[in-house]
Amino acid sequence: MDISVIIPIYNEEGNIQPMYERMSATLSKITDDYEIIFVNDCSKDNSLSLVKTLTQKDSHIKYISFSRNFGQQIAVSAGLDYAEGDAVVIIDADLQDPPELVIELYSKYKEGFKVVYAKRKSRDGETWFKKFSAKVFYRLLAKMTTVDIPVDVGDFRIMDKVIVQHLRNMPEKSKYIRGQVSWIGYKQTYVEYQRDARLSGETNYPFRKMMRYAIDAITSFSDKPLKIASTLGLLTSLFAFLAIIYALVSHFVFDNAVSGWTSLILSILFIGGVQMITIGIIGEYIARMNNDIRNRPLYIIEEKNVEEQKNKSIETK
Ligand code: UDP
Ligand code: MG
Repeated sequence: MDISVIIPIYNEEGNIQPMYERMSATLSKITDDYEIIFVNDCSKDNSLSLVKTLTQKDSHIKYISFSRNFGQQIAVSAGLDYAEGDAVVIIDADLQDPPELVIELYSKYKEGFKVVYAKRKSRDGETWFKKFSAKVFYRLLAKMTTVDIPVDVGDFRIMDKVIVQHLRNMPEKSKYIRGQVSWIGYKQTYVEYQRDARLSGETNYPFRKMMRYAIDAITSFSDKPLKIASTLGLLTSLFAFLAIIYALVSHFVFDNAVSGWTSLILSILFIGGVQMITIGIIGEYIARMNNDIRNRPLYIIEEKNVEEQKNKSIETK
């Protein structure tokens, strides 16, 4: 198998047919030996039956269907466990990422790069808030991590099966795939593209999910928040120490005891706040560990027409 394409699907009934057409047309320009794996993340609409119809018409089409909604990153991870290709493409179903770009990604890959990711030059049809928060987030994450995670890059990319094999062997349960790929290393490069608006339907990433995703990314790749927490503690203690000296001096030297409810309540609230924040930060890391230690399966598949590749040994160059 030359190329596998992984497409996570959550309520994308309006996009499946056009995606299928554009992707098949693109891939058949490269090779005849390809597969397109749709990973249905328990869509509530008609997506699954549309995909199944495609599998009957076209033997290139494979599908995996989850027993419940596990999230996009896990859907992609499942696709990776089942992909057979020498090169594996990850792409969103909503046609924000143009399937035609795969040709360019593939020719770069053929030059010998193990990963070629698609970098967004611009993004259409998204709110200024989404663009702004994405911009801030990518740059903040880049500052916080030691791994070099490229900015303005989504999961749209092509990867060699060597990379895929390493990804399969990474046991963490909260996935941040683009970070993991950077962590793996090898020769990586990018091509730039223009991100289109969603063809049909609406985004599945409301603010709450985006925050969750951001926290997963940060806790996966950085210990900075923990260090910030200890710095915060140090600063508060320093401040308290100065306040003690001030209180002692004004009592013993100037003989006027500091009086008042205001200062007292303010300092209690302040210290309380700092404590809560630091406990919250520690909590995020503990939750992450807890999730890993429970060691539940990453996903549950209700039905599929494809064979797992994960535990087959692949000769790695
Ligand atoms: N997706 C998924 N499970 C989810 C949410 C999203 O499989 O719980 C898929 C979705 O169908 C799409 C991709 O992940 O193919 C990206 O989602 P979306 O376009 O909503 O995100 P955005 O582009 O707005 O960040
Ligand atoms: Mg999208």
